[in-house]
Amino acid sequence: MIITIDGAVATGKSSVARGLALSLGYIFFDTGAMYRSLTYGLIKKNIDINNEKKLKAYLDTFDFDMKIKRGEKLYYVEGEDVTEIIRGLEVTQKVSDVAAIPIVREKLVEIQKELATGVNAVFEGRDMGTVVFPKADLKIFLTGRTEVRAERRLKELREKFPEMADELTPEAVLENLTKRDEIDTTRKVSPLKAANDAYIIDTSDLSCEDVVNRALECKDRHKRSL
Ligand code: C5P
Repeated sequence: MIITIDGAVATGKSSVARGLALSLGYIFFDTGAMYRSLTYGLIKKNIDINNEKKLKAYLDTFDFDMKIKRGEKLYYVEGEDVTEIIRGLEVTQKVSDVAAIPIVREKLVEIQKELATGVNAVFEGRDMGTVVFPKADLKIFLTGRTEVRAERRLKELREKFPEMADELTPEAVLENLTKRDEIDTTRKVSPLKAANDAYIIDTSDLSCEDVVNRALECKDRHKRSL
């Protein structure tokens, strides 16, 4: 069974997907981390994303891996543990431009489909219910008020990167969030949008646990409607 969770920046997708997967005994995949890992690899190799030939060559040999250690999912690019660094500002500022490139999406969608073979999983991202798994068994789309999402994101970043407190101003975080949403919703390939058959949950005034419970209710309701 495949469950998809899509939504904009800081709607709580990862925490909800993780919580839902845990309560159902499913595997959880954060596809944003894959776009981030690829972006990190491109930055490290100093590859200009407008140079299609070089970008394609990198994609053909993209060496990406995931492992679970002590219950935590770790991400690797060419053997380097990139779990922390892909959440940093440099990657965050570039990832949406990278994710808007069609050949990048082709490559990562191929990996995502392979990961879904023969497993029960929750896939979280932007185009899971619309493009990657249009026949998913259950689709959830998370929304939230911009100011609430920006506040959440700021808190999360300050906890993760206390040494960058000066750079992490509410204005800078809001600007990045708005810009990423804009790129993600307006890009030509696989723009962020709810699938027609997705259940929509506004997470602005809900805790993660509340959202997981709502998602479980959607699952029951969906099963009864089949
Ligand atoms: O979810 P997260 O914020 O980590 O995702 C980082 C970026 O990766 C998003 O802003 C979006 O541009 C891109 N992304 C995407 N499609 C997905 C997952 C993420 O385009 N399925």
